[in-house]
Amino acid sequence: MTSVRIHNFSAGPAALAPQVRARVAEALSLKTDGEPSVAEISHRGKRFLAIAEELESRLKALMGIDEEHALLLLHGGANLQFAQLPLNLAQGRRPAYLISGHWGQKALAEAQRVSKPAMVGSSEENGFIDLPEMGHLPAECAYLHFTGNETINGLQFSQPPSVAVPLAADLSSEFLSRPYPYADLGFAYAGAQKNLGIAGLTVVMIRRDLLDRIPADLPRFLDYRTWVNSDSMYNTPATLAWFVALETVRWIDENGGLVGMAERNQAKAETLYSAIDDSGFYSNSVSEAARSMMNVPFWTADEALVAGFVAEAEDAGLQGLKGHRALGGLRASLYNALDLEAVRALVDFMQDFERRYG
Ligand code: PMP
Repeated sequence: MTSVRIHNFSAGPAALAPQVRARVAEALSLKTDGEPSVAEISHRGKRFLAIAEELESRLKALMGIDEEHALLLLHGGANLQFAQLPLNLAQGRRPAYLISGHWGQKALAEAQRVSKPAMVGSSEENGFIDLPEMGHLPAECAYLHFTGNETINGLQFSQPPSVAVPLAADLSSEFLSRPYPYADLGFAYAGAQKNLGIAGLTVVMIRRDLLDRIPADLPRFLDYRTWVNSDSMYNTPATLAWFVALETVRWIDENGGLVGMAERNQAKAETLYSAIDDSGFYSNSVSEAARSMMNVPFWTADEALVAGFVAEAEDAGLQGLKGHRALGGLRASLYNALDLEAVRALVDFMQDFERRYG
């Protein structure tokens, strides 16, 4: 059997860079009676605290944030942030939500359960092929929430909206993918399982002056101050996910930092969008200015061909291309760890598939 190189286009949990995979494999090459691995040691001991400190300092440096913001390493994924953010920061004030796709809708629906959010713009009417226009913000607005990159719909804000209230961004699927004005945001969050390693860790950034707005009576676990005051170790952290995150930020630093990631990501996105636009067989209807650099949904001329595309692609080593069930079609996720060679292999496969079925 000839072996094919595997390329992983999964939307998340997603590919790790080869160097990170090697480091994790080495760290977990468990012998029955060997030294404890990183997954088997106390989070309060010296060995793990060194990992935690390096992770935090590298992350802050990459994000360009200083003491004005606190960086928290939490549990619960972005979904917990959908509720925790309004519970902490939108009591007695109205938050505003700008909706550009599926995840923004989920964030808004959860905010409705614990606060009185105003929906200040949505591009749902045109099928989320464009970014929304923004209407008026409510008085005493707690924050404006937006989804930096909509993972399912394949839409991305090139820059945060410009408003006079604190910005709160769901950056799950674009975190650390390019230089970004993190320090201009009041609040941001991202699950680690796309650009920062494996599932189990959620990065949260909060401007410290906003901590004063948190009500006094929240359950401790849900109060951001608990995590600020415990260096994100109020309880046992997802230690292995922190370790993989550290290896991932080391890899980012060794590969040109966020500028390096942006170059890599741009080259991949351009290669794939050009292949789609140049063919009469594949399509992506998102307006050019709103297209995501990270997640590229696309369709074949005939939806009945999708299952065959996915199966044949898997045989060719191209995994994780099935579109999200909400939209159908296909989707290629081009997170940091994926290389340009993977996209070239995908484009070659797409052209071959089109020749045979188009
Ligand atoms: N927001 C965005 C933009 C996402 O892509 C995802 C996951 N695909 C989520 C939120 C939900 O993340 P989690 O599963 O970490 O709660």
